[in-house]
Amino acid sequence: MNFGSVFIDESMRLRGIQPGNRIAVPAQGFLLVGPHGPILVDAGYRDPSVLGAGGEIGPGQGFEEQLAAHGITPADLTCVIMTHLHRDHAGHLHRVPMTVPVVLNRSELGGACTGIQGRAYAKDDLHHLIDRLYTPGALRFLDLEYGATDEDLWPGITCRLSGGHTPGSIAVVVDTAEGQAYLCGDLFYDAEGALRSQPRDGFVAGVQPTYLVPDDPALSNNFTTSVRQEMAAVKAARRYRFVLPAHDDPGVLEHGRYVGRILGDIIPGQITPTP
Ligand SMILES: [Zn+2]
Repeated sequence: MNFGSVFIDESMRLRGIQPGNRIAVPAQGFLLVGPHGPILVDAGYRDPSVLGAGGEIGPGQGFEEQLAAHGITPADLTCVIMTHLHRDHAGHLHRVPMTVPVVLNRSELGGACTGIQGRAYAKDDLHHLIDRLYTPGALRFLDLEYGATDEDLWPGITCRLSGGHTPGSIAVVVDTAEGQAYLCGDLFYDAEGALRSQPRDGFVAGVQPTYLVPDDPALSNNFTTSVRQEMAAVKAARRYRFVLPAHDDPGVLEHGRYVGRILGDIIPGQITPTP
């Protein structure tokens, strides 16, 4: 689902890209369809004014419209899972009835409310989540740091500590007919650039090599974890068949290497191989 464009500096996509070029990326959510009922993962932004460099919500990209395209309303959702709470992900939660729980990692809400990332979190989004906190059944917390880093929500749907982007970010692992999909929020802005076949450092057009070791993946320029944590989190994504970032096309992996992308709306789907 595409909830509108977000304008970013291209250098955010990969370390080593020179800053100064503004690009538009989609603010995507994903609808999990199965016996558990429709589950939404991530919910776009409420209004371009909350974004740092702006954005644009085009015709048909409204929250209810995107759901209606799949024949459902917000009240039909089983739950909404948040990979993290940044302003381009948590924007429409107030449009979801309080009877539909929002699922998130407890430390992500805690971290958001420290203010340490400034306006990366939108005040109105956090107000709404505090309202949910005080409304029985409106919020479900995961605690993925201590003891268990995985939690199964339903058969075939597991929430996992991402380890990347923000300290509280999670990813959702979903079983599909053709392997597991890894819905990883903002761990990647350019999954191909990060995970393309080796040797890749120095071979990404326009990107200065950042790392000395060819097997190291490339990182985005937008994370608040340590560099080593981010590196480990990206490497952990290599085990899945599909990686589904919020701001890039779904990527297809073979033995940990990026081999193509899915341009259609459904995963699994037709694969467009990389050259
Ligand atoms: Zn984002």
